[in-house]
Amino acid sequence: MGTTVFERRRPADAVIDASLRDTALSVFWLEDVPRPVHPPLSGTIAADLAIVGGGYTGLWTAIRAKEREPDRRVVLLEASRIAWAASGRNGGFCEASLTHGHENGLTRWPDEIDRLEELGIENLDGIAQTVSRYSMDVDFERTGQLAVAVEPHQVEWLREEEGFLDRDAVQAEVHSDTFLAGAWEKDSCAMLHPAKLGMELARVAVDLGVEIYENSLVRSIEDGDAGAVTLVTRDGGRVRADAVALGTNVFPSLLKRNRLMTVPVYDYVLMTEPLSSDQLASIGWSNRQGLADSANQFHYYRLTADNRILFGGYDAVYHFGGKVRPEYEDRAESHRRLASHFFTTFPQLEGLRFTHRWAGAIDSSSRFCAFFGTARKGRVAYASGFTGLGVGAARFAADVMLDQLSGEKTERTELAMVREKPIPFPPEPVASIGVNLVRAAMDRADHNQGRRNLFLKTLDAVGMGFDS
Ligand SMILES: Cc1cc2nc3c(=O)[nH]c(=O)nc-3n(C[C@H](O)[C@H](O)[C@H](O)COP(=O)(O)OP(=O)(O)OC[C@H]3O[C@@H](n4cnc5c(N)ncnc54)[C@H](O)[C@@H]3O)c2cc1C
Repeated sequence: MGTTVFERRRPADAVIDASLRDTALSVFWLEDVPRPVHPPLSGTIAADLAIVGGGYTGLWTAIRAKEREPDRRVVLLEASRIAWAASGRNGGFCEASLTHGHENGLTRWPDEIDRLEELGIENLDGIAQTVSRYSMDVDFERTGQLAVAVEPHQVEWLREEEGFLDRDAVQAEVHSDTFLAGAWEKDSCAMLHPAKLGMELARVAVDLGVEIYENSLVRSIEDGDAGAVTLVTRDGGRVRADAVALGTNVFPSLLKRNRLMTVPVYDYVLMTEPLSSDQLASIGWSNRQGLADSANQFHYYRLTADNRILFGGYDAVYHFGGKVRPEYEDRAESHRRLASHFFTTFPQLEGLRFTHRWAGAIDSSSRFCAFFGTARKGRVAYASGFTGLGVGAARFAADVMLDQLSGEKTERTELAMVREKPIPFPPEPVASIGVNLVRAAMDRADHNQGRRNLFLKTLDAVGMGFDS
């Protein structure tokens, strides 16, 4: 087996140790923003639309519902706090793609991919317009995304991409000796502050008249009278609603049929202290694009408004049983690996310290992008499983759910991508054996000039390949 650049140019242990000495286990984004408190639900209320989940999917559904019909009574129930989960702790790459990248969409929906990509750009434009219409303070920067090649075989992959940059051109953007080439897609990705987006979506929703309840875990959906449905919370609160939208993502679905449709795969993140102007000058990066390297196991990295660097990805850890648990967020091995890979990428930043470390559950579905559907005679709609690319796509998912609940056929409801369901994950122990086999196979492929072994090729052939 070959080596990757991260093994060939491994920094000294002392450099890694020093960088992680005072790193807090805490989500930088959630510390960096005020978090208004919303009351828990008590008693029984009625609503035209009840939304479960206070991440981007639920919040966009609330806003889009009020924009469509301002007089509707819309309530949103969140088990914990607004945007505490993936929506408050992600990388903040707001991509146009609705299909987790072109390749995945092209393979699954070849006849639809062109339209899906147009809809994705319309969706991203819609996000930009919403940010400006409601003066949302979310550090929105449409700087695009720069994919970089850090191994020779990756250069060939990028050569086929839009916006190819050779070694000199990529170095002119960002200085890292590991970068051999790049591809800069300028228009299809914006960078933003994830937790600010969550808080601002909630602020706009409330301004439009949405009622938000936090610490209100919904336990069940019951049939109500006159065809309505009733949501029942852990503490006995009840919402009688004509329609329900579920934006519960990787958490256990309130619908039994969806229990095996998503699994949490943990993704790890580091945040540096702010760079000095000299440190920043040593890496360039004046166009502030989102960066990602191109292996199967890849890193994503970006600048914050105060010029810190967020560096995440690579390890993707599935824990037996498929639960979301706070104790999975602290994994020294993964955070050390990220620190090591960071200083391989930017050795000129030796001495820089990481202030924050955290992790989050990636909302993985077997088709790598969200799936949609309805239950209870069309009164309940759901969308989940963005597989790590939901910052932008959550708004599209909100529109799909509202279309479905309206009972009308729309272009969105008729898409094959919306109508088809993914293959469920197998139950344990097969799930963890399978996910770990895929991970090991991806790691081997990255050490073998990207070549995929028979196992990955077989998964590709049945439409379950981990390709991005
Ligand atoms: C570390 C990390 C980095 C990522 N980076 C990116 C990125 O750069 N770009 C990108 O596009 N995507 C990224 N993602 C993925 C992205 O964050 C998610 O796809 C997106 O936030 C999904 O939003 P959501 O609202 O569907 O889910 P969530 O944010 O998970 O929200 C679901 C909410 O539902 C609530 N809930 C669940 N069940 C119940 C219930 N029964 N009752 C009440 N409430 C309930 C939960 O408490 C939670 O708040 C990343 C994810 C992680 C973890």
